[in-house]
Amino acid sequence: MDMSKAKILIVEDETIIALDIKRTLINLGYAVPAVMTSAEKMLDKIGEIQPDIVLMDIMLKGSMDGVEAAERLRKLYQIPVVYLTAHTDSKTLQRAKETEPYGYIVKPFEEQDIYTTVEIALARSQAEAKIRKALEKEKELRELKNHFISIVSHEFRTPMSTILFSAGLLENYGNKLSEEKKVTHLQRIQTAVKQMTNLLDSVLTIGKAEANKLEFHPTAINLENFCSSLVEEMQLIAGEKYDISFSSQGDCTNALMDEYLLRHIFCNLLSNAVKYSPNGGKVKFQLTCEPSQQVAVFRIQDEGIGIPPEDRKHLFEIFHRASNVGNISGTGLGLAIVKHSVELHKGKITFDSEVGKGTTFTVTLPLQSHSD
Ligand code: ATP
Ligand code: MG
Repeated sequence: MDMSKAKILIVEDETIIALDIKRTLINLGYAVPAVMTSAEKMLDKIGEIQPDIVLMDIMLKGSMDGVEAAERLRKLYQIPVVYLTAHTDSKTLQRAKETEPYGYIVKPFEEQDIYTTVEIALARSQAEAKIRKALEKEKELRELKNHFISIVSHEFRTPMSTILFSAGLLENYGNKLSEEKKVTHLQRIQTAVKQMTNLLDSVLTIGKAEANKLEFHPTAINLENFCSSLVEEMQLIAGEKYDISFSSQGDCTNALMDEYLLRHIFCNLLSNAVKYSPNGGKVKFQLTCEPSQQVAVFRIQDEGIGIPPEDRKHLFEIFHRASNVGNISGTGLGLAIVKHSVELHKGKITFDSEVGKGTTFTVTLPLQSHSD
């Protein structure tokens, strides 16, 4: 803020003194948007004027004196008050102290007194505003962290109990189980460990992304090969209930993108498409490259549960999960990571959805990305 343009409101019922202060303040380079003659009028207008400081006569006539008015300003608006005092009795002075004023100017005043007191009050009020902001940010982060911990620990429980259960079975009934059953339980353990590893990976990635520390290293990549092998991987994981297909149009063999981030983007979009189609179905992954427009367009279409309208605008927010997920598990981190990864590529992501019919996500990325 430009200190010389600070807005100062005067509340003083003796007009001659008020005008004298106003003139002095303007000479010193401050703005004086108004002079008020009573506390009530001041409180009426304060929201509109939004001064940086109020110079307040302690002994105001009317039903409310300056001290009471200052108390309200402090509680309701956090606007700093500097008192104007003449011969004030000690009881009033004591009350005034309790409102934590930013200074006193004793009448009759010198221009220099006003200048010093106002400058100190402005500096202190700015410092305090900074601290208040930092505290708020801190509180937000603390809340986010708590939320984080509770979700993540909840998500860890399921794979952990799977591991415990399968390992227990193998330990106690190992020789009575068929080879086939043994393999099933060993696979369950491996899947559970993979789930936990993925979760940890998401947590670390979103942590980096939120701190703007997600790195962006574009390299030459054949998108056609990349996407089709991703689809093959996903088909293996998803099983027979799903038909995941890939098609591509245009020349997509020569792009410059960050492969690690691309993996985050499309693993999550494909796994969402599968996860939110609990009855199985078709998932289509289409890639279209338009070298003339220098973009690659990726579409992932499913026939799943869809996204309710009221959830759509929050979908990319960290931890947000739609109201229709039922007992499908998830942390709500995936799309937040996707969004960060798309933005690092200077691309964009949109979606279309109909509840009960399905969802299509469209990602558009520049074919040749460069890190800045
Ligand atoms: P994870 O962090 O494990 O990915 P998640 O899948 O719940 O958990 P996101 O991928 O961020 O989290 O998705 C956020 C929410 O968006 C989901 O919880 C779900 O409600 C909704 N959603 C995302 N993709 C789809 C989809 N293809 N169909 C229906 N709903 C979806
Ligand atoms: Mg997901």
